[in-house]
Amino acid sequence: MRFGTAEAAPGELVTGVIEIGHDNILPLVSPVMLARGALPGPRLYIQCLIHGGENVGPIAAARFLRSLDLKTFKGSIAALMVANPLGQRAHSRLTPQDGTNLNRIFPGSATGSVGEQLVHRLLALAGEHGGDAVLDLHSGGELTITAFYVIYDNKFDGPAQRASKALSAQIGSRYQWGASEDWMDGTFLTHVTRTHGKTALIIESGGGARVREEDLANFSTALQGAARALGMIEGEPPIATDIRRGGNAVHVKCTKGGFWDCKVEPGQDMVGGHIMGQMVDLYGNVVETIRCPAAQGWVGSIRRPWMPLYAGDQVVEVVERL
Ligand SMILES: [Zn+2]
Repeated sequence: MRFGTAEAAPGELVTGVIEIGHDNILPLVSPVMLARGALPGPRLYIQCLIHGGENVGPIAAARFLRSLDLKTFKGSIAALMVANPLGQRAHSRLTPQDGTNLNRIFPGSATGSVGEQLVHRLLALAGEHGGDAVLDLHSGGELTITAFYVIYDNKFDGPAQRASKALSAQIGSRYQWGASEDWMDGTFLTHVTRTHGKTALIIESGGGARVREEDLANFSTALQGAARALGMIEGEPPIATDIRRGGNAVHVKCTKGGFWDCKVEPGQDMVGGHIMGQMVDLYGNVVETIRCPAAQGWVGSIRRPWMPLYAGDQVVEVVERL
């Protein structure tokens, strides 16, 4: 079994690289890990760092793969560790060379800009190696802090969407968000689901320019849960209680620049009018109070507290509660 230069015999965990694009010097490569159980079984594909700086995912994925007992493991896991090497080098969620957000421009193009070519290749790799399920690991990166939530494609009602929803309930997250918004049309997730017909989830936790053990633990729960749900390892997947479902998200922005004094936590329940934070100027004056615009919602993500922001920057992602 091969993934890039990594070649695994039954019972082996191997590392290597794979070519995913070209820059002006050499081919762009991503590190890869391939874990192959001693026993045959399902194939799981994990993608990390399509947004540079979202470092919780690859750290958690490497830990998880190294923790597996491959003598009893059924099937294989292929992990693409850096889907956006240009952004990762710059600590940026974007691709600096062409300004693209890779997770908004799928399916990309083999003849497009460097970012468009990257996503074209990423989609092909997921189709080839995606097997039975695909997990796209995110966090808030440098600028944002997210709740431990899971997203599946909810725009259409098909077998891949239903399987994705079922898997989303087995990774231990209580924030289970079936998204149908238009921005989802350009994501890796929806193209894996709609083009390749595969079970696929986005999983997020943490960010804010740091990696906490709590977020690594969330990803460990999620990855183990997915492996259990797929029958790769023994045990029941974790079932979260007190579930929060999500509808559309409202990306709340400040209208005044200043320091962002955030008053809410990722995952927190809110009702309309709840004060989410305030903008404070350099003299210490409160220049704007920011309230929850949804009648009922939960905090999907917050901009990093006390970050200096421009007018018009996003401060809170409010997910409408269903
Ligand atoms: Zn991301």
